[in-house]
Amino acid sequence: MKDGNSTLSPDKIERLLRKDCSGCGCCAQKCPAGCIAMKPNAEGFLYPRVEKAKCRLCRACVVGCPCLQKRSAAKPISAFALMSTNEKVRRQSSSGGICALLSRAAVRRGGVAFGAAFDDKLKLRHTAVDSLAAISTLQGSKYVQSDVGDTFIQARSLLREGRRVLYTGLPCQIAGLKSFLGGATFPGELLCVDLICHGVPSPRVLAKYIKEQERLYGAPIANISFRDKSESWKHYFTRMDINSKPARSEILRKNIYVRGFHSNLYLRECCHQCKFKGYRSGSDLLTGDFWNVREFTPDLDDDKGINIVIALTQRGLRGLLELHENIDGRIVHKGKIPWNYVINTSAVAHPNRAEFFRELPSASSVSALIERMLRK
Ligand SMILES: Cc1cc2nc3c(=O)[nH]c(=O)nc-3n(C[C@H](O)[C@H](O)[C@H](O)COP(=O)(O)OP(=O)(O)OC[C@H]3O[C@@H](n4cnc5c(N)ncnc54)[C@H](O)[C@@H]3O)c2cc1C
Repeated sequence: MKDGNSTLSPDKIERLLRKDCSGCGCCAQKCPAGCIAMKPNAEGFLYPRVEKAKCRLCRACVVGCPCLQKRSAAKPISAFALMSTNEKVRRQSSSGGICALLSRAAVRRGGVAFGAAFDDKLKLRHTAVDSLAAISTLQGSKYVQSDVGDTFIQARSLLREGRRVLYTGLPCQIAGLKSFLGGATFPGELLCVDLICHGVPSPRVLAKYIKEQERLYGAPIANISFRDKSESWKHYFTRMDINSKPARSEILRKNIYVRGFHSNLYLRECCHQCKFKGYRSGSDLLTGDFWNVREFTPDLDDDKGINIVIALTQRGLRGLLELHENIDGRIVHKGKIPWNYVINTSAVAHPNRAEFFRELPSASSVSALIERMLRK
C-alpha cells in the first residue's frame, strides 16, 4: 500500500503513531484487527506497539490519531468561578469539586461517569462509575498518567444504548475519545470535561516512589492524595495513607515527588509541545484551579478550593445549568476569558530530564535522584 510516495508498512505505521504520541490509546481501540497494544516505553509511558503479522494496513489508527490531525481551536463562551456547596464534596476534591458534581449529576440521571481512579495496586486507570458511592474514587487530581484501557469502546457502547455519559480526562484523552467516536451521533448524550493540564508524569516514577515509601514506612501505602486540603488548598500537601496497624496518614509538605512534577523533570515528552493547548481538545467544558480568583471575585477566595470552568459548547453550558442547586459561584467573563498561562502554553522540560530518565533504572533511591537532579 502507498502512503504518499513511500510504501506503507506496519513498521512505518508504528513509527508514525509513536512520533508525537500522547498515550490516549485511540489507535489501539480503533484498530479493527486488534493488533495494537499500549506498552510502556523506557520512561514508563504507554506507547502503541503494532503486531506486524496481524496488521491489515487499513490506516484506521493513523487516520484516527488525534496527534496526527490538524486541530482547530474552540471559541470559549463564558468562564465561571464555581464551587460545590456541599463541603464534604469540596474537601475531597482538588479544586471546587465541579468534576465530582458533574459525575453525580450524570449518575443521578441513570448515566455513567468515566474518570481516573487508582486500582488496588495504586496504578491509575480510567474507569466507569455508575453509583454515587463510587464517585469518591474519581475525586482528586492524581499526578500521573492514567491508562484509558478500553474506556472509549465502553463509552461508545453506552451511548449506543442511549445512556448518558460523562467523560473526564486530560485534553489529550478527550481529543482521543472525540476522534475515536468520529462525527457519529448516538441516542445517548456525551458530555466531555477536560482539565487544565500542566503536563503528566511517568507512571514508572510514581510506582518507584511508592515502593520506596512503603520500604520507609515498613507497610503498604493504601492511598495517596496529592492535594490534601486539611491545612490549605493553595499550599500543596501530599497525604499518604499507610496500611499499618493502627492505620495512619502522613501529610508531607513540599513533597519531593510533587516538586519533581512541578519542575517538569518527568513529564511525558509530548507535553512539552502539547497539541491540545488553546482549547484544541474538542471538549465541552474545561476546568482547573482558579488560583487567581481573588482578582475577579475576592469574596469567593476562602482557601478551600474553587474551579475556573470555561464553557466551550452549548452542551457544556447546559451541563453546568443542571448543577444549579449544588453550586455557588459567579460568571467571571462572558466571551473574554481570563488569561491562564497553562491553558495556552506547554511546560518547558527540565534541563536534566534526559539524565534523570537515564539514571532512573539503576537509582537506589528515586527521591534522592529527584533531589539531586533538581539541585544540579
Ligand atoms: C496531571 C494534572 C495536571 C494538572 N495541572 C493543572 C494546572 O496546571 N493548572 C490548573 O489550573 N489545573 C490543573 N489540573 C486540574 C486540577 O488539579 C483539578 O483536577 C481540576 O481543577 C478539577 O478539580 P475538581 O475539584 O473539579 O475535581 P475533582 O472533583 O477532584 O475530580 C478530579 C477529576 O479529575 C480526574 N483526574 C484526576 N487525575 C487525573 C489524571 N491523572 N488523568 C486524567 N483525569 C484525572 C478525575 O477523574 C476526576 O474526574 C491538573 C490535573 C491533573 C490530573
